[in-house]
Amino acid sequence: MTASSSPVAVVTGGARGIGLAVAQWFLTHGHRVALWDADAVTLRATEAALDDPSRVLAIHCDVSQPAQVTDATEQTESYFGRIDALVNNAGVAVFKPIGQTSFEEWQTVLGTNLNGPFLCTQAIAPVMLKTGGGSVVNIASISGLRASTLRVAYGTSKAALIHLTKQQATELGTVGIRVNAVAPGPVDTEMAKLVHSAAIRADYHDVIPLERYGTVQEIANAVGFLCSAAASYVNGQVLAVDGGFDAAGVGLPTLRKTAVQ
Ligand code: NDP
Repeated sequence: MTASSSPVAVVTGGARGIGLAVAQWFLTHGHRVALWDADAVTLRATEAALDDPSRVLAIHCDVSQPAQVTDATEQTESYFGRIDALVNNAGVAVFKPIGQTSFEEWQTVLGTNLNGPFLCTQAIAPVMLKTGGGSVVNIASISGLRASTLRVAYGTSKAALIHLTKQQATELGTVGIRVNAVAPGPVDTEMAKLVHSAAIRADYHDVIPLERYGTVQEIANAVGFLCSAAASYVNGQVLAVDGGFDAAGVGLPTLRKTAVQ
């Protein structure tokens, strides 16, 4: 496959963290990549570090803003000529009690975590169809599968994103675009550093059967699989990449420690 016909992936929030690892997975597997991110400084630093202008396009874009998404889609199509994969990864977290979560914070979280994937998928699907279809992966969270304190906005946005995934898979599957979600457990990124205290970290070690955080590469591997031909019949699914956290259910640490003795 020549460089100009090689597949193209758009990764939102691709300047750092999980999004950057996903972008690196695509580059390693022969794709060209467009990184869309709202953090201009980090985005430019990442673009410079990747140092591959023929295969990497960095676009400053806030995915919660319809006009910016339209513009980024046009720029990406014009630069690369096609789009085959979209990873809706950009996300923000506000962890606060219900009574202290302002309406503005609620709207900010829903704006990026839910409106963003709606807008980006709506804008990019017609471009994917010009070359026969594609694959979308929405980055949800274990917080979209299990409720928890302090996550009224974040958890609700991710649960809604999981349902949006199924809506999109149902409608877009008929025209050749598969849509799936990955629900990561805790991963040590800038976002986690912001909201995970030492006590929260210890709690996660207690309740996750693998007794550790995931790595950005482990999340990227799952995303890459879902975008690959190996997952050609997988559509509308939610893959928890969480060390068994979701499966554990009533996985009380005391009971678990007893079980292995
Ligand atoms: P990071 O905060 O490290 O990176 C997210 C990137 O997305 C940042 O560069 C951020 O820029 C950018 N971004 C935020 N809002 C927007 C927006 N509206 N438009 C475009 N870019 C935006 O996060 P992670 O890598 O940790 O998280 C990636 C995804 O994984 C998120 O959806 C998150 O909810 C999900 N996730 C993460 C987990 C974890 O433990 N880390 C666990 C479960 C899910 P800026 O600095 O401007 O905000």
